[in-house]
Amino acid sequence: MSTATLTIQQQDSAHCLHPFTNFKELNAKGARVIERGEGVFVFDSEGNKLLDAMAGLWCVNLGYGRQELVDAAAKQMQQLPYYNLFFQTTHSPAVELSTLLAELTPEGLNHAFFTGSGSECNDTVVRMVRHYWASKGQPNKLEIISRNNAYHGSTMAGASLGGMGFMHAQGGLPLPNISHIDQPYWFEEGQGQDPQQFGLERAQQLEQKILGLGEDKVAAFIAEPIQGAGGVIIPPDSYWPEIQRICDKYDILLIVDEVICGFGRTGEWFACQTYNIKPDLLCLAKGITSGYLPMGAVIVSDKVAQGLTEADTEFAHGFTYSGHPAACAVAIENIRIMQQENIISHVRDDIAPYLAQRWQELASHPLVGEARSKGMVAAIELVADKNTLQRFSKEQGAGGVCRDICINNGLIMRACGDTMIISPPLVITKQQVDQLITLAKQSLDDTLQALS
Ligand SMILES: *Cc1c(COP(=O)(O)O)cnc(C)c1O
Repeated sequence: MSTATLTIQQQDSAHCLHPFTNFKELNAKGARVIERGEGVFVFDSEGNKLLDAMAGLWCVNLGYGRQELVDAAAKQMQQLPYYNLFFQTTHSPAVELSTLLAELTPEGLNHAFFTGSGSECNDTVVRMVRHYWASKGQPNKLEIISRNNAYHGSTMAGASLGGMGFMHAQGGLPLPNISHIDQPYWFEEGQGQDPQQFGLERAQQLEQKILGLGEDKVAAFIAEPIQGAGGVIIPPDSYWPEIQRICDKYDILLIVDEVICGFGRTGEWFACQTYNIKPDLLCLAKGITSGYLPMGAVIVSDKVAQGLTEADTEFAHGFTYSGHPAACAVAIENIRIMQQENIISHVRDDIAPYLAQRWQELASHPLVGEARSKGMVAAIELVADKNTLQRFSKEQGAGGVCRDICINNGLIMRACGDTMIISPPLVITKQQVDQLITLAKQSLDDTLQALS
């Protein structure tokens, strides 16, 4: 370890508190210092080159080092680095981006409420749907239904909507009037059942929950099209049509959290197109700027926007950085590049089918119980016994062992328990996918050896 790296690590331990981190453990070990990025690779302070198969945190969709995005931010910062949308003012970057998003998103979704992150989007939707129903004369429609093992961010509302038990356990969550149904995670919870039947049953829990709470009490249902942080959980095809039917039948607003799935990840601009979902509210962040600046947007349907407008009262909600001009400028440029480089068809017709084919090769590895992918997200399930699909014990920590071995081999994969997941930049090439698969196979072999 170089002295330069050690100095940064010491100051980091002394002063920088990291998200979702055991501070004691990290301080003992020292953080890896990432210095720069180029395309799908990042480089650390020790000169190691890492294939970033997580695109940062599911966000660097166009890859690192895109000068156009840097220039868009610089140009906007020179002209107007900041102004807000409060107090009856506006600016061109926010207007241009909201117009662009209205064109890109499915029919009927024509209004953007800007935020600084995915969590802020989900705080916004909680307040917005309750305000909407109150405006409609139904103030008792407060309850929001979500799912166990969902991830909707880390603010109080985001963590409450999320279904992560270890998050709820800290800080007395969830907030009131938020409840959860089971997730459509076939590998973990549905084995022995027909996957389509399982998907249908999990969706029908929504109907039971609505009836249990009372239709007149339920404001909305929120879900990720594919659960991301929960472990890249791809629902059976039977799931989403049934959810849609239930939301329509009981007049429950459908909030689709596409913070990961939006902007091409599933091979369409939005996963609600992939799954034919008709959201009332659509949460976007991460890929909206390819992560170059923080930004989020709640896309609001005509129906909800009309209700809020007819209310003729102030929606008492917003952030200093709602519609930040530089973030908007980067988002506009990010979308322009995606259009110019045909990123959607590159994903749908070219690189996602290739990734799917090569990723399936991992299924034959003795450690792997299942390999799955959809668009540019993929997962493998690590198992101790390939025949019975028995998991490793918690103490063995197979996922963590595999993740550390991957990094040492030059590959950034993430572990969610014993589920290994990837979400590479959308611009990854076939040759780089080959490299990813080679590194993954090598790392699985090394993990097998380490665990036996
Ligand atoms: C990351 C994520 C969020 C939270 O976004 P932040 O920008 O970290 O606040 C919300 N929902 C989903 C589905 C996410 O993946």
